[in-house]
Amino acid sequence: MFFRRAREDRAFREAQRAGFALLLQLQATQPWLDAPEQNAPAPAEEEVVAPDFLPPDLRVPSRQEVAGLMMPCKQPLVIDGEVRTCPGCGAYRDWIVFCMRDDSIWLRCRAGHETNEPRLDAAWYNRHSGPVDRFHPTLEEGLRHLGH
Ligand SMILES: [Zn+2]
Repeated sequence: MFFRRAREDRAFREAQRAGFALLLQLQATQPWLDAPEQNAPAPAEEEVVAPDFLPPDLRVPSRQEVAGLMMPCKQPLVIDGEVRTCPGCGAYRDWIVFCMRDDSIWLRCRAGHETNEPRLDAAWYNRHSGPVDRFHPTLEEGLRHLGH
């Protein structure tokens, strides 16, 4: 019932998609949402039901299905008391920060150099990033969206 209505109403569908993305992000950062006292259906149940009812374009990729998360970071990144600079060009701000599926953190400077940052991890990323508000089918599209 709920899903049938969503399919007919595109605006509602978009809102629902955003809601799902937010929910996924909350689940990623706040595991206690799955506590037994919660009355909402368990995420595992949704994952089983959704593919039967939702057309493929309506499903939000799970954390396992996306290659990674990305966010802009205009300010200099201070890690262990020192400003992180790009080994390729010396840039120290205007990064795009990636949190990959294996929880590794990568930095991309304005010039397109990409470098791993082992001192940061997914927990750090989750503390600093906002809710997931958009999915990009390709990395290039994501970079364009963030102005790189
Ligand atoms: Zn660089």
